[in-house]
Amino acid sequence: MIPLIRGIRDIFPPDSDLWRHIKNTAENLFQDFGFSEILIPIMEKTELFKRSIGEQTDIVEKEMYTFTDRDGESTTLRPEATASIVRSYIFHKMYAEDPIRKFYTIGPMFRRERPQKGRYRQFYQIDAEIFGQSSPYADAQLIIMLTILMDRLEVKDTTLHINFLGCFKCRPDFNNSFKKFLIKISDNLCENCKKRAETNPLRVLDCKNESCFQLTAEAPQISEFLCKECKEHFETVCKALKNTNIKFQMNDRLVRGLDYYTKTAFEIQTDALGAQNAVAGGGRYDGLVKLLGGPDMPAVGFAIGFDRLAEIIALNNINYAQKPEIFIAALGKKCIKEAFLWASALNAVRIKTETEFSGKSLKSLMRRACKIGASNVIIIGDQELEKKEAVFRDMNTKEQIGIKLDNPVKNIMEALSKKAL
Ligand code: AMP
Repeated sequence: MIPLIRGIRDIFPPDSDLWRHIKNTAENLFQDFGFSEILIPIMEKTELFKRSIGEQTDIVEKEMYTFTDRDGESTTLRPEATASIVRSYIFHKMYAEDPIRKFYTIGPMFRRERPQKGRYRQFYQIDAEIFGQSSPYADAQLIIMLTILMDRLEVKDTTLHINFLGCFKCRPDFNNSFKKFLIKISDNLCENCKKRAETNPLRVLDCKNESCFQLTAEAPQISEFLCKECKEHFETVCKALKNTNIKFQMNDRLVRGLDYYTKTAFEIQTDALGAQNAVAGGGRYDGLVKLLGGPDMPAVGFAIGFDRLAEIIALNNINYAQKPEIFIAALGKKCIKEAFLWASALNAVRIKTETEFSGKSLKSLMRRACKIGASNVIIIGDQELEKKEAVFRDMNTKEQIGIKLDNPVKNIMEALSKKAL
């Protein structure tokens, strides 16, 4: 037996039934909000992630799966989706035809982190991005869409955290003041934060180390540095959320791991998964399209951790497996041949039908029908063939009726629709 690579999993039933439910619920909701699906590659040129995520981030420094392809090109398995969606938006000049674009994508991402519950090396994300809208209402709309999704999926006990990271005008002032503050305390910071203080100072704020947390308690707050435009933007986002009855918590330590965030940053957190408390995160990234060679174009988006979302919903203990409406219990060769034809015809008209080709006893076939949760069983043996009438058994009420075999598929469908009345 060849084992799996560490941190990489198979998702199979019943988990994959839940995953399908999540995916369908998300896609239906996103389509209603006017988002279209975009399919982006699993691999990109390494430079894309280095430039967008930032050289000094954990992802780029330590976590990317990067290899040199046979033609010498440095290639990376995508650690997140935003960079690729932005690349695609620019590469295909989508902005020229219509700058306002709303995309979603669902798929695997790869980061070489230390695996633990809720943290994998191949994990899945549900991403949504809006391009070409600088309005704070776009930020609020994304957050509202995210909260509706959590409600529809019955994700309980989560908290929405919000922060505001300023823009290119006011962030440098905050950075300067924050850097000065960090110099004063740097001797006592953890080794990681000592380095971050030089390269990516904001990240010191979300260090999990208790002593770094205490040391930065008195740090200057970004909210004191916001320019007029940023203040207005933030107030509008907060008001829009309040007006739609969305509860949130201000969190001035929410800086997100990636360099490209500006203005609104948000995260959905849970206590259900231990240390891995972030279920989804996002925010505005107005400078990224330009940074990657496109026009000056505002953008905002989020990424939901699919694996973590599924792990929380699984706590509700609901079975999402699709159960067959009909199970055909066929006894003997001749009947199996018939059952095969009926099952194919019924499935073709979207009636979930299962049968078995094993030739096992009626008892064993009925046991299987129960096991897979079939609502009804059609029993067909040589006797029924001779009488030209199969048995239709309602597995709930145990009631049985005859199904004439002159036109079995039509008659089964009729029996089902009578039941539905
Ligand atoms: P990020 O792209 O880092 O903002 O992550 C967005 C979301 O993806 C997080 O809130 C997590 O739910 C999820 N996520 C990030 N990294 C992992 C991982 N290694 N394993 C599982 N989920 C992850």
